[in-house]
Amino acid sequence: MRVPAYPDRRFASPPTAFEEVDVRGLEHDLTGAVEGEVRFKPGDRALYTTGGSNYRQLPIGIVIPRTTDDVVEAMRICRDYRAPVLGHGGGTSLAGQCCNVAVVVDFSKYLNQIVDIDAERRLARVQPGLILDHLREPVEQQYELTFGPDPSTHDHCTFGGMIGNNSCGVRSIMAQFYGPGPRMSDNVHELEVLLYDGRRLRVGKGSSGDPEIDHRLTDLRDRYADEIRRRYPDIPRRVSGYNLDDLLPERGFDIAAALTGTESTCALVLEATVHLVHSPPSRSLLVLGYEDEYEAADHVCEVLDAKPLGCEGVDAVLLEDMKSVGIHDEYLTMLPDGHGFLLVEFGGETKDESDEKARKLMAQLKKGAGAPTDMKLYDDEEQTAHVWQVREAGLGATAFIPGKPDTYEGWEDSAVPPERLGEYLRKLRKLAGKYEYESALYGHYGNGCVHARWNFDLRSAPGIKTFRSFLDEAADLVVEHGGSISGEHGDGQSKAELLPKMFGPDLIEAFREFKSIWDPDWKLNPGKVVDPYPITSNLRLGTDYDPPAVKTHFAFPNDHGSFAHATTRCVGIGKCRHTDGGVMCPSFMVTREEKHTTRGRARTLWEMLNGEEIDGFRSEEAKEALDLCLSCKGCTNDCPVSVDMPTLKSEFLSHHYAGRLRPRPAYAFGLIDQAARVASKLPAVANFFTQTPPFDAVFKRAADVHPERKIPAFAPVTLKGWLASRPSSNGGGRRVILWADTFTNYLEPEVGVAAVEALERAGFHVVVPSGHLCCGRPLYDYGMLDMAEAYLRKVLRRLREDIRAGTPVVGVEPSCVAVFKDELVQLWPNDEGAQRLSKQTHHFAEFMAERAEGWEPPLLQRKALLHGHCHHKATGGIDSEKSLLEKLGLQVEELDSGCCGMAGGWGYETGHYDVSIACGERKLLPAVRDAAADTIVVADGFSCRSQIEQTGTGRRALHTAQVLELARKFGPAGPSGSYPEHAAAPRPGAGPVRAAARAAVAVGVIAGAAGLTYARLR
Ligand SMILES: Cc1cc2nc3c(=O)[nH]c(=O)nc-3n(C[C@H](O)[C@H](O)[C@H](O)COP(=O)(O)OP(=O)(O)OC[C@H]3O[C@@H](n4cnc5c(N)ncnc54)[C@H](O)[C@@H]3O)c2cc1C
Ligand code: SF4
Ligand code: SF4
Repeated sequence: MRVPAYPDRRFASPPTAFEEVDVRGLEHDLTGAVEGEVRFKPGDRALYTTGGSNYRQLPIGIVIPRTTDDVVEAMRICRDYRAPVLGHGGGTSLAGQCCNVAVVVDFSKYLNQIVDIDAERRLARVQPGLILDHLREPVEQQYELTFGPDPSTHDHCTFGGMIGNNSCGVRSIMAQFYGPGPRMSDNVHELEVLLYDGRRLRVGKGSSGDPEIDHRLTDLRDRYADEIRRRYPDIPRRVSGYNLDDLLPERGFDIAAALTGTESTCALVLEATVHLVHSPPSRSLLVLGYEDEYEAADHVCEVLDAKPLGCEGVDAVLLEDMKSVGIHDEYLTMLPDGHGFLLVEFGGETKDESDEKARKLMAQLKKGAGAPTDMKLYDDEEQTAHVWQVREAGLGATAFIPGKPDTYEGWEDSAVPPERLGEYLRKLRKLAGKYEYESALYGHYGNGCVHARWNFDLRSAPGIKTFRSFLDEAADLVVEHGGSISGEHGDGQSKAELLPKMFGPDLIEAFREFKSIWDPDWKLNPGKVVDPYPITSNLRLGTDYDPPAVKTHFAFPNDHGSFAHATTRCVGIGKCRHTDGGVMCPSFMVTREEKHTTRGRARTLWEMLNGEEIDGFRSEEAKEALDLCLSCKGCTNDCPVSVDMPTLKSEFLSHHYAGRLRPRPAYAFGLIDQAARVASKLPAVANFFTQTPPFDAVFKRAADVHPERKIPAFAPVTLKGWLASRPSSNGGGRRVILWADTFTNYLEPEVGVAAVEALERAGFHVVVPSGHLCCGRPLYDYGMLDMAEAYLRKVLRRLREDIRAGTPVVGVEPSCVAVFKDELVQLWPNDEGAQRLSKQTHHFAEFMAERAEGWEPPLLQRKALLHGHCHHKATGGIDSEKSLLEKLGLQVEELDSGCCGMAGGWGYETGHYDVSIACGERKLLPAVRDAAADTIVVADGFSCRSQIEQTGTGRRALHTAQVLELARKFGPAGPSGSYPEHAAAPRPGAGPVRAAARAAVAVGVIAGAAGLTYARLR
């Protein structure tokens, strides 16, 4: 493979010389020497091509070191082969600094521990792959300490990456007023680094640990000191360029600070010692409304005089974007009147103290000129979190706005002195207007740092030319205002070419020298920050981007009907790499593999269409990347830009297997409705073969079901059979269709019975469509989309009159309800029947809580542990379920347990079993085991209940409808004794005549089969 080379030790921009790397030899030697993982396959490399930036470069290969020695060894071997090296953390960088034609060393999987906390000295030693929140949470709980700079990516960005980028955040203001300073470089005490030549150094204030380096740095500093003092802007957020100012005597010749922000171009960080600051336990959030964002910006300095912990700005465009995209728009009413806002956080030892500080500022602002139009103070934790969500919606709300062109990074984090912020914002908006660019303007106003995401055209030659010209003018503007081209995201490739405007040619020469002192071979992250690749090269889109048009089943209505566009939707924010909370992404949470993030999967599909690295829908790499996607829909809800991986996976599988046989589970589980339909004729026979040894093992092997799994038994009588055999008790109330899904109808009809009875007691006339009707839920998981469409067409036909009449459809199985709410309209967004059915369909609890007017639920005063189904969370949320249970009088603990790990047939499959169990064991299963014996475990999903039952918890979860039934039957005290689920109504049985007839046939069939087996075994 060809990599750039540096004949004169300088990178000519663009590179003029190249040298060959023996990639196979490199891979071989790395594999032999490194204890961790070495991955050079196309599917592995595709995952690390871009980060969150506009750029794309294919790495040479990936090393995932298990130990620090692994890093050292990997560097040695790369040096032997003259291969470039790039450090990698969460990969959330926006400026192109975390992709390169290099061996990528991913620190995040294993090297992610806290080494030591010295609370007295307020220092923490950490490995580079440690996620920021994984330090903040324990030090906060144990010592009331925290780490100052907190990027918005705090729950998945790593210390190595924060040091690489010289990160900042909302609480940079806190670190500025109450700690060592606003940027990462101010908060780093000491670094252990590895140089490309193999030297391992502990660098800090005063020394690098290497006399030669110290000497050369001192010499460099002395020669450039005047120019540094003259040209470095004195602002809180100067992130662009190398921190040569930290070498000045008045800054203590701080080499750790100088290496911070070098974006992997000088050294790899092996360990860091960082400063901690006191974390005031009480916080109050003051929200100030102004006429517009400029007015808000004009008053930042007045606010800063009150020494808050954070001061953020939001404009009206962001609020409009949030409304259009539907992100957190429910919280917009919490803002005061106005069109430009400042969110100001105060801290104190008590609520009174933090409130008092906020009130003092309010009083002062009221008196001053240009007082805010309105102000609101929040000190309740939940409310405060909601208001912060408005600010944090930033990138998610602005990337893909319906009806507007896509937006990109490129000029998204410039910073100016806070006192000139208003002036800068006015001129920036005017300049953008000249180019017909639009964006919300929001960000860390207290530090003068502005976020924006502009609608650049990065696909046509004229568009790219215009983009480049805008950047020139914007850079001139920021320099004119005494600012910094980057105020927190770093230079990478998207800003680096502009640095001469800010620093001048002499300091650019000093940067070259600085890099050469650390990395004389220019092998660390070459072409970034100094002597960079041009801004318009290596573009991920660019003029060559021409993905093939794909004829799809799904309409991809939010992506202009394009599968390709749907794969570009992932903008690399990396939220799918968080390790706790929410649903997305369960498989990553247990494997910690980039491949198993939503991002990894989206990237793989993008590369598949691009064709250079992975080729086409038959690609095994792409199939493998999607294999551990549970289709839980977590990403559709939790991803800030709503990457819809289940839809992409389903579409992919339909193409991947077009005209070919699918794996066995696709038929065993995908067609479960058909199997259940047949089995329901003779459930005892079916159960004999699926539940009795040795037949069950044969069946499991045939269906590729893991031996530890238990195949659910078919009910003796279906829900529809039960309904047909009972006397009608329907009154004349409003007609409601109860959707008898496959799982409820054939496997757990007792849930359906409980739902029918609850609906009838609430006064509804319950109708269950007769005959075999299925939403096709399992078909999506296996990409059997022709059949899925046929199923839905049948549903629309059969329910046509009711759909037209507006009859509500109530489902007890969340995943089936989700088909009508989601997949149906993804397939046919313009079909009126589909749209109506989607809107008329309700989850059971949602319907009972919100539509059963005048109905009072029976009382049940107990504790309940609630696990929400992930499809339920993605299609409306489980708030109504929780409030319904609370209305019963239950004390509900809602688990933040994500996906149970079963996910339909997915968790039954042999190859998924371990991950399935690990997902369940993350939170749900331990919580169920720990629950008191008289606590009711509530889970509306059939899969979730099966996972709980099959994993040795000793508990059986109940559906909300069954909980209502318990309340009705046993009154407020509920059933006596432990395990309330034992008191739930049993599965309905077949009537005596029917049962006898069935039994006779069953005995015959079973005896025959057993005899046959016995004969064969002999
Ligand atoms: C939506 C969004 C919001 C963001 N908000 C903020 C914000 O508020 N503040 C902010 O500062 N940034 C922000 N960022 C940018 C980015 O998230 C941060 O800079 C973050 O700290 C990067 O961490 P990471 O682990 O993802 O690093 P990566 O992206 O993996 O790496 C960052 C740089 O560090 C280098 N690096 C990684 N590990 C090492 C190592 N061990 N040794 C040497 N170099 C290494 C990489 O090569 C790269 O150059 C945001 C990004 C997004 C997408
Ligand atoms: S899938 Fe969503 S959350 Fe994950 S990186 Fe992409 S945009 Fe971010
Ligand atoms: S559907 Fe679930 S498992 Fe699949 S990518 Fe989305 S969050 Fe991850």
